[in-house]
Amino acid sequence: MKRASFLLAILLLSYSTLLAQDNKMQTFVSNLMAKMTLDEKLGQLNLPGAGDITTGQAKSSDIAKKIAAGEVGGLFNIKSVAKIKEVQKIAVEQSRLKIPLIFGMDVIHGYETEFPIPLGLSCTWDMAEIEKSARIAATEASADGICWTFSPMVDIARDPRWGRIAEGNGEDPYLGSQCAAAMVKGYQQDLKANSDILACVKHFALYGAAEAGRDYNTTDMSYYRMFNEYLPPYKAAVDAGVGSVMASFNDVNGIPATANKFLQTDVLRKRWGFKGFDVTDYTGLNELVPHGLGDLQTVSVLALKAGIDMDMVGEGFLTTLKKSLQEGRVTMADIDQACRRVLEAKYKLGLFTDPYKYCNEQRAATEIFTSDNRAAARKIAADCFVLLKNQGNILPLKRSGTIAVVGPLGNDRQNMVGTWAVATDGSKAVSLMDGLKDAAGSGVNIVYSQGSNLDYDSLFQQRATMFGKPLPRDPRPAADIIQDALNTAAKADVIVAALGESAEMSGESSSRSNIEIPRSQQDLLKALLKTGKPVVLVLFTGRPLAIKWENDEVPAILDVWFGGTEAGHAIADVLFGDANPSGKLSTTWPQNIGQVPIYYNHMNTGRPLEGPWFQKFRSNYLDVSNDPVYPFGYGLSYSHFTYSSLTLSSASEKGNQQLTATVTVTNDGAMEGKEVVQLYIRDLVGSVTRPVKELKGFRKIDLKAGESRKISFTITTEDLKFYNSDLKYDWESGDFSIMIGGNSRDVLSANVNWTK
Ligand code: BGC
Repeated sequence: MKRASFLLAILLLSYSTLLAQDNKMQTFVSNLMAKMTLDEKLGQLNLPGAGDITTGQAKSSDIAKKIAAGEVGGLFNIKSVAKIKEVQKIAVEQSRLKIPLIFGMDVIHGYETEFPIPLGLSCTWDMAEIEKSARIAATEASADGICWTFSPMVDIARDPRWGRIAEGNGEDPYLGSQCAAAMVKGYQQDLKANSDILACVKHFALYGAAEAGRDYNTTDMSYYRMFNEYLPPYKAAVDAGVGSVMASFNDVNGIPATANKFLQTDVLRKRWGFKGFDVTDYTGLNELVPHGLGDLQTVSVLALKAGIDMDMVGEGFLTTLKKSLQEGRVTMADIDQACRRVLEAKYKLGLFTDPYKYCNEQRAATEIFTSDNRAAARKIAADCFVLLKNQGNILPLKRSGTIAVVGPLGNDRQNMVGTWAVATDGSKAVSLMDGLKDAAGSGVNIVYSQGSNLDYDSLFQQRATMFGKPLPRDPRPAADIIQDALNTAAKADVIVAALGESAEMSGESSSRSNIEIPRSQQDLLKALLKTGKPVVLVLFTGRPLAIKWENDEVPAILDVWFGGTEAGHAIADVLFGDANPSGKLSTTWPQNIGQVPIYYNHMNTGRPLEGPWFQKFRSNYLDVSNDPVYPFGYGLSYSHFTYSSLTLSSASEKGNQQLTATVTVTNDGAMEGKEVVQLYIRDLVGSVTRPVKELKGFRKIDLKAGESRKISFTITTEDLKFYNSDLKYDWESGDFSIMIGGNSRDVLSANVNWTK
């Protein structure tokens, strides 16, 4: 009792402190706004790119004039304390009200120390590691002048044609929500500290559902799917306290997100209680014009009215809202509201107290790209790789003999850092060859041959390497390039084929209609397999690929995504068995592109395929089964795990009780290893159709060779809830199937009847 009153007192105290802080901020911002002209208020809503600023030249840049005139609220993608300090000085010394700027950047999966691409990070299923990657990114970015990141990107994606699937956490709302919260926690725990930065969850909303996987394309879906399957990760970021939100480029139900009041106000603010500020994506405002919503003045009104506070690059707010105010199309209250939200963010970041809070040369010199940060990146990268196949235990490799590394990605540094690596120097990344040589020791001979170009089509290669991550192109006929590789491989005991995508074959504006390994590389792989030597495919990719043939023919496949700065070391750690792979897929990998969208948590349909493929008048294809090559949650290890004895604490439950599901997991392999134990639930009867299974929990455990452990999950009625056809979030009485396993396909199951 005493303890409870004590806790209550603490809670009340913290609540009243928060309230007092909030009041203090409100008063400060109100006083400031009372002094601001309309133009100065509109200036706060303006977020231009860094433009022509180079160190030492800031004063004479075009943007400097705008900053001095109070026409700029923040800048983005400007790097280094020196430049940022110079620009901030203009804002706080030359602009009339000395309002500091906010400095943003796409710090998406690391700053100078790059971590694996987010899709890879999500495959660790390790929230502490994901949070740590964001924390290190925040520390480095903040040491270099940045106080705001355009991350986390949490768009659910079920279409691997969409290149930006690389930037998110895969197909599942539950895993995606966990990752979203972990990232926000990593970036912004305590904004008073100068090592924390403001996060920005994006792209709100449904960007990942672009039709045909073509970037920026239309989305259209039922509210039922939206609320149950696509919105949860954004909400998780809001619940975790994310400071800002970025609107997406796409339209939703006919209204582009940037002008979509339902999304930006009704859902975000009214339903979820978001209190931060809402920014457009890059020229997202201007793009409302080609979307067909009117001219720049009209769309600026629509965006402001929808709830957008800041205009990235477009200058629509800056140049048209004054006129719209005069014409009565917006109110002063609309503009004030947006301005207040931007100023509040600056206040929360402490920029009014110290505009140079993030400009500390000492920190910049000692906290970026440190050996500790790189060691963390190496470990996290090794933990995100997914061992897809390991027939005959070809892996781990022995530290003896000759290893032939073959393939266009085997000796390249720039591509290792992946798609969003704005701040890093890719030439400092570790290639696969670098990594293997460092790890092998003197007893191993490592030789390399390119073996093929990225693609037969040189124009495709140009498009797929156009932003500073080139790959060498051998002009000779393909047969000659392959022959060189065969000559190199002839001396080898094992071949490591480093194939797949270049870093820029995924990411923004990198959609593909064919998600196979390019034909030039497949032909190389065929030739390598013909040698009869053991071949390990080290697969670089930013998306699930269609690798049915490779899975049938190649004995060992390790999916290494784009592992970041330390990619080569991390791959070597796994190949030599210094690290035991434990990554599990956060997406389903299809047999072919025609199966897309294919995802584990689909509805049952009225004519599900039960039993073997093919069955007439059942939901299946004539030419391919419904199975993926690899299901969601799948990933092998050098250990081997078996699941047994699933028990439920009760076969029937009533009301808000708790159910415990327990399973025994045994490591019956020869090595200590980590396993992700996954809990799925199926709601067998509902007022609406329900998915055949939904992830509701997971646990990453470490088991010694031969060790068995009982793993329990506590299930409550919260885990049974969903948004029904009235968008009411509740659970319904009935039978539920409780499933536990090492991936979404191979599960043990038991049923419970749960009534209200
Ligand atoms: C992307 C955003 C990014 C922004 C700023 C846009 O093209 O869609 O994800 O944050 O650019 O660089």
